Amino acid sequence: MKACTVSPGKIDSAAVEEVPEPPADDGEVLVEGLLVGVCGTDVEIAREGYGVLPAGRRRMTLFHESLGRVLEVPGEAGLAVGDLVAGIVRRPDPVPCACCAIDQWDFCRNGQYTERGIKGMDGYGSARWRVPAKFAVRLDPALADLGVLLEPTSVVAKAWDQTEKIGARASYAPERVLVTGAGPIGLLAAMLGVQRGLDVHVVDRVTEGRKPQLVADLGATYHSAGVDSLGFEPDIVMEATGVGQLVFDVMRIGAPNAIVCLTGISSGHHTVSADADAINKELVLGNEVVFGSVNAGRQHYEQAAAALARADRSWLDRLITRRVPMANWPQALDRAADDVKVVVDLRG
Ligand code: BGC
Repeated sequence: MKACTVSPGKIDSAAVEEVPEPPADDGEVLVEGLLVGVCGTDVEIAREGYGVLPAGRRRMTLFHESLGRVLEVPGEAGLAVGDLVAGIVRRPDPVPCACCAIDQWDFCRNGQYTERGIKGMDGYGSARWRVPAKFAVRLDPALADLGVLLEPTSVVAKAWDQTEKIGARASYAPERVLVTGAGPIGLLAAMLGVQRGLDVHVVDRVTEGRKPQLVADLGATYHSAGVDSLGFEPDIVMEATGVGQLVFDVMRIGAPNAIVCLTGISSGHHTVSADADAINKELVLGNEVVFGSVNAGRQHYEQAAAALARADRSWLDRLITRRVPMANWPQALDRAADDVKVVVDLRG
């Protein structure tokens, strides 16, 4: 079968390769790959060599944002042939740590977890793939190709879930949310904020193109002038850029009891200047919380599937701004200025 493979760090090695059928020990559910979504992590694997190859290999199948259709499944698995599914990215560590032992793989304590298409395992960028039923999440069939947004939505579903758990420490009702970055993670975080009935504001640098309109059509407010001229103090910040300076900037602007959730995985090594004393005073006197959130557990995928099922499909559809056929998949790694989510079509 065909797969999108790469030797990490060698972007010119990205190619369609003929690889063996998925091994039975990958799991009892056989899935026909329909689409994969491209994210910054994939680009970093291909360009910078981020990630870890499967043991003994020089190339790996890329992509962790999946969508497929079930081809074979044993009767007791709770899935049926023809179901639209996405595969979960992470697998628990083999030790296992206390969190992985109870399937909280997204909170792994020893770093020995593996991730499809990122760390020690082939990804979902192939004509067929297998997963254990526990790692396949069923999608509303009406979502069709939009189901490829499940994995990035699971990441923000976890971010929101953690934010709400932290918020439960005091009896205050958050009203205003700031999302930094209008990429897929930022826009999906904003969508979940709007679904919660909150007043959502999104800040990004661009002044033209699709992003301002996507934010407006969500019922949120778009800002391009930076976080210091918002005119309000957010109760919640969802930081989705990973830009070091912005990460520190958003720590100074929160309302009392603000919760700042960091979701962006920084790629560089930038030294920034920050008034550390002022930030500390702000956080202490305001009872503010800054926390990081990565990956997602099964319940977050399910929350994400429910959120996508009740979202406006025409809005979700506009998030997919480019479709690349598998034969040309390396082109999906080049970012165009106005791209939101680029997907690779594995069919045909
Ligand atoms: C993925 C996560 C993963 C993280 C770190 C992100 O791009 O969405 O599932 O845990 O990268 O590898």
